[in-house]
Amino acid sequence: MSISDKTDISRKDKKSFHVNILTLFPDMFPGTLGQSLSGKALESGAWSYRAINIRDFATDKQKTVDDTPAGGGAGLVMRPDIIDLAARSIPAAQRGKMIYMSPRGRTLTQKKVEELSALPYLTILCGRYEGVDQRVLDAHDFEEISIGDYVLSGGEPAALILMDACIRLLPGVMGNHETVSEESFSDGAGGLLEYPHYTKPALWSDENGAERPIPDILTSGHHGKVREWRRQQSLALTKERRPDLLNKLKDD
Ligand code: SAH
Repeated sequence: MSISDKTDISRKDKKSFHVNILTLFPDMFPGTLGQSLSGKALESGAWSYRAINIRDFATDKQKTVDDTPAGGGAGLVMRPDIIDLAARSIPAAQRGKMIYMSPRGRTLTQKKVEELSALPYLTILCGRYEGVDQRVLDAHDFEEISIGDYVLSGGEPAALILMDACIRLLPGVMGNHETVSEESFSDGAGGLLEYPHYTKPALWSDENGAERPIPDILTSGHHGKVREWRRQQSLALTKERRPDLLNKLKDD
């Protein structure tokens, strides 16, 4: 069975985060998550995954996983019985929350990411073609989650995005926990977009020779004023780019 297994699911460690991925393309994992902070965290065992190849559960010689849509129309639909067999190959206690990456789902938010990253197990189903037969979604109570109002060719990049967002919140993955708690959308940032960042050099000239200094306030050493400036910048940016977030704050 072509399962790429980077798992030690026998670990009883309460802070473990294990993701089962149901996919036709197991080699897409860990993909980008094998690099940088998430890659180090994978090595250290802060999270683990198991990419399960749905095709391994096909029951005919041709290894068929899809068929034409009932009722007619274009494209192919992934069969419920094969996905079900793949899902049931995961011990029930290790399935955790069942998620189907889908443009039809609720759009992923930082709040949802915080909720999911606190769970010990997730199982993520990645669709291909036109999507998957509704009955298997109902039978396993898959929650549909979208990463935005656009259509991808498959759920795997969406799953990598969801996993990336969860993994960086796991304890010890990001060096400085403040970095995480004060970011855009988080409660620490008041639910606003983050302020602009600057670093050395203090004065930098761009391609046209225009001098671009760091705003004076940031080099003043006055922490209270810096805080106030950042808050103003956050508010102005949010008002300009994401007024919906401000309205949401009013409603909460
Ligand atoms: N026919 C579907 C699109 C299928 S795209 C529709 O019109 O809604 C094929 C697969 O890509 C989907 O099954 C889903 O798993 C994944 N996918 C596409 N766009 C996505 C998005 N915005 N968020 C999460 N998953 C997505």
